[in-house]
Amino acid sequence: MPPSPPKREKKFRRRCVECSHYFLKDDMFRIQLNQAVNKDMSNRSAYICKSYPCLQCSLQTQGKRIRRSLKHAVPKHFFEELERVLHTLDPSNVIHPQTI
Ligand SMILES: [Zn+2]
Repeated sequence: MPPSPPKREKKFRRRCVECSHYFLKDDMFRIQLNQAVNKDMSNRSAYICKSYPCLQCSLQTQGKRIRRSLKHAVPKHFFEELERVLHTLDPSNVIHPQTI
């Protein structure tokens, strides 16, 4: 009998703002506004998958889609983080969306 996982966790999927596919949260970056700027918007956050093309596109467009999703300017440190991560990724790194 094959070993079964101890407890099946409910996996939430989030939509990538760049490619519009759904991914598990582990495969994504979460961009959340801090509370200082977010007091009038309850926990608004955007997700982007860790695929190279999506991250690169987001960097090139200065997070246009993220900004649209957050309805707020993207924190500057996010782009620094994004650039750092991009350097560690292979351009062929693409996360494939989970089939639901
Ligand atoms: Zn994506």
